[in-house]
Amino acid sequence: MALEVFDSMQRRKVLFESRQPGEVAMYVCGPTVYDVPHLGHGRTALTYDMIRRYLTWSGLAVTMASNVTDIDDKIIRRAEIENRTESDVAAEFTVAYDKQMIRLGILPADSRPHATQFIEGMIEVIDQLLKNDAAYELKGKGIYFSVQNDTTYGKLAGRSLDQLLEDAGSRVGVDESKKSPLDFALWKSTKPGEPSWDTPWGKGRPGWHTECVAMSLSALGEGFDIHGGGDDLTFPHHQNELAQVNALGKPFTRHWIHSSMVNVSGEKMSKSLGNFTNLEEAIDIAGPRALRLLALQTHYRKAMEMGRESLMAASEAVKRLDSFGRRMAQANVSISDTKMDEASKKSFISAMDDDFSTPSAVDTAFRLMRQANAALDDENVADASEIASSCISIFAVLGISVDTGTLIEPKDSAVEIEIMMKRRFDARSEKNFMVADQIRDELLEMGITVEDTPNGAIWFRA
Ligand SMILES: [Zn+2]
Repeated sequence: MALEVFDSMQRRKVLFESRQPGEVAMYVCGPTVYDVPHLGHGRTALTYDMIRRYLTWSGLAVTMASNVTDIDDKIIRRAEIENRTESDVAAEFTVAYDKQMIRLGILPADSRPHATQFIEGMIEVIDQLLKNDAAYELKGKGIYFSVQNDTTYGKLAGRSLDQLLEDAGSRVGVDESKKSPLDFALWKSTKPGEPSWDTPWGKGRPGWHTECVAMSLSALGEGFDIHGGGDDLTFPHHQNELAQVNALGKPFTRHWIHSSMVNVSGEKMSKSLGNFTNLEEAIDIAGPRALRLLALQTHYRKAMEMGRESLMAASEAVKRLDSFGRRMAQANVSISDTKMDEASKKSFISAMDDDFSTPSAVDTAFRLMRQANAALDDENVADASEIASSCISIFAVLGISVDTGTLIEPKDSAVEIEIMMKRRFDARSEKNFMVADQIRDELLEMGITVEDTPNGAIWFRA
């Protein structure tokens, strides 16, 4: 069976077909850095990390781009309240976000554009939209996109233009000067004291929806393979991205993939409900592997239930997995984390090719764990070795390492260090020295010394 994914635009599972055979280019909307990361950030990151790891394991060359929104109303508001600069706020919460991503073992994106470093690209997009008559200027307010020429507007949200207009009409506070209540800002004229950039149409700052258009097309080119993000971004953010690319007359993404939300103790997680839960806290409580396991045990399109109980259950499952790994190691069962027997491989692939059905893949792996334990109970070392290797290899593809004592090189920590080195390199090339220094300090705490040489940075254990 070939890989099928649920495409949000078509509202059904479709055969995954990439632009270039053997390659996958994916773009995932990244965080707006105005606060510490919450559980939703963790889940979104874990979802696309799982997709990326699986596609890579399948033999595809994956290129992933994910942005950082470092200018936005919420960042401006926080800077104002705390009497500091916007870039200071953004830098603090980029560090906070990265720190938890490193703990979760999220592979760093190949390209990670920051909005404020991409202004020129956005100006080009807006300029072209104005030339194509898809946008108009509202004096003193900015440049707006006109949705009326896009006959497919609303399709991603599963709504017609008329339905959306009706919804918008009943909302209070709609700006009457816009041609349509659905029109959205591509470029916002700035108020005094706000960060601004010069443009042919005056000083201002970019709108969020344009950011991702300029950055995704620049990083991955037209007609890339997967556009992802949390399902709360489907409308208006992704719909508005798509409307712009349609108006530019370019192909955008081949597949829209959206990951669902996190429910905390049965309620949808949201700040307004007061059940906002911090990602760092959850990782502190249960550990990063438990959080990843919990995410994998829920299909990415289903709401993920999270509470102390489910976190503890996942944490117990990870402990069982480790004691299984240690038991095998102590019994001198030889284990590989890259070898699956044909039957296990087949069942793993058929689960994952069915729209990344990780709950079923995890079930398969745990079943193998029980079988390997049973084989060892019977002192059948050869079977135990083959079955345990399949189990541990499945978890490895899904990003979960198992403690197997000393039989397998402890390469996980090296992977983590490489991830941190890459993030530090990225931060330095973005002249984000505060982030770079923080990563160096964290490495130092782990006993790793970083040295910058003319040929790049190197690390060694002190
Ligand atoms: Zn986006």
